[in-house]
Amino acid sequence: MNLRIHDTLSRKKIDFQPLVAGKVGIYACGPTVYDFLHVGNGRQQVAYDVMFRHLRARGFDVTYVRNITDVDDKIINRAREIGEDPATLAERFTQEFHTDVDALGCLEPTHEPRVTDSIEQIIALCEKLIANGVAYASHGDVYFSVKDLPSYGALSGQPLDQLESGARVEVDTEKKRAPLDFALWKAAKPGEPSWPSPWGAGRPGWHIECSVMAERYLGQSFDIHGGGVDLIFPHHENERAQSIGANGEGTFARVWTHNGFLNFGGGKISKSDASMKILFKRAFKIRAVIERHGGEPLRYFFMTTQYRNPLAYDLVIDGEDPATATLRFPGLEDAERRCEYAYLTMERLRDQLAVGKPAGDGAVAPEAEGWLGRLQEGLDDDFNTAEALAAWNEALQLANRILDGKLDAPKDVRRRTLERLARDFRVASDELGLAAAEPRGWLDAHRARRCALLGIDAAEVEATIVRRNEARKQKNFAEADAIRATLAAKNIEIMDTPAGTRWRVA
Ligand SMILES: [Zn+2]
Repeated sequence: MNLRIHDTLSRKKIDFQPLVAGKVGIYACGPTVYDFLHVGNGRQQVAYDVMFRHLRARGFDVTYVRNITDVDDKIINRAREIGEDPATLAERFTQEFHTDVDALGCLEPTHEPRVTDSIEQIIALCEKLIANGVAYASHGDVYFSVKDLPSYGALSGQPLDQLESGARVEVDTEKKRAPLDFALWKAAKPGEPSWPSPWGAGRPGWHIECSVMAERYLGQSFDIHGGGVDLIFPHHENERAQSIGANGEGTFARVWTHNGFLNFGGGKISKSDASMKILFKRAFKIRAVIERHGGEPLRYFFMTTQYRNPLAYDLVIDGEDPATATLRFPGLEDAERRCEYAYLTMERLRDQLAVGKPAGDGAVAPEAEGWLGRLQEGLDDDFNTAEALAAWNEALQLANRILDGKLDAPKDVRRRTLERLARDFRVASDELGLAAAEPRGWLDAHRARRCALLGIDAAEVEATIVRRNEARKQKNFAEADAIRATLAAKNIEIMDTPAGTRWRVA
């Protein structure tokens, strides 16, 4: 086993060696809970869930920490806008976040700390940084002094002088010694949530929480830090500065990972703020996308591209009014078909193996031997889910070929191969977070979503199928075929199985 991970700091793919043999600590920045998740946030959640699952499958004892930012400017501003208490708003969107990541098939992290539970440790870290000479108090705020940390800028690859020339002049300049210095602690403004501190009432700056929570749950040094590529600067640069400023060079994350952007294309709707806002709700709010296509297809779609690469979220917009234009996501529709195919395969396989006796030990078809290894090697190569899905789909095709009677092999070999595939599918399914639900339940929910989207009346289809089966029973095959053709014209495909007639929306 040779696990390779791309490290943002050294800009290289490295051979991964954990700090402590057999254990891995991951810290990934979690959401600021002021609104529903958007599709880009969802991609990050799935990327780190895959990492978590694969490292566990490789036998590591993984501690995965994902924080919740429950006090922040965005939360305070949003709460003021809609007249809600900031803590209530944060709690509400924490619940919504959990609903969405569950639908995406993400496992619960080992720890999910909240900023408001770590205030005491945040104040202690500010004090330590002041004592170490890399931070200073000013007008009730505390700032990190970037010029006092020589390696500042190393993560984002920007030397300090370059960063300084690009820095915008901010409102707080009179309180700061240098424009790039950033707030560790902010003095309370009227009406904002605040906590007592040695510098007066205030609240934490954005970056310090992650330094504190990573150390609290993973120690001063740990294996993998993660987040979206948009977090490299300033957030991760500043997290790194704080932790190194407190504990010394060589501490904090040993490998830095970042998932890529989501590029969206298509459509002739103007990119004005107002129309983008409406479009955002319809096209980028995860909840809306899940209601339309399901959570698992969205997960699958994210996994079609290795996590570091940009992912094309192509949108076909038919119409000019963002509120009423028909939206289509070809990538998601394809992912839906792939997920349905996987569940149909699992169902067929289960039905087939439910009859007859187990084949016992012996040879299996050689095609069934290598795919699970290839899937895991794909994930070993910097969690390349695209490679893993290729192996997964190959195996699904093989299972269907055997179920269709198209594999030229003795009966016991065919049976044994199906048994082997069923076993390996469970391993792969657990590792990928795909096709793990009960097949019929998933397929029925999927069909209901498709019917709703295409305006198909499921009860009417069921009644038509009853009529067809009556015709067949009376050996009126012409009538039965005519009914099948009528349904096919409406994109309804029917399948006669040992468990009865089933149907799907094609
Ligand atoms: Zn963070």
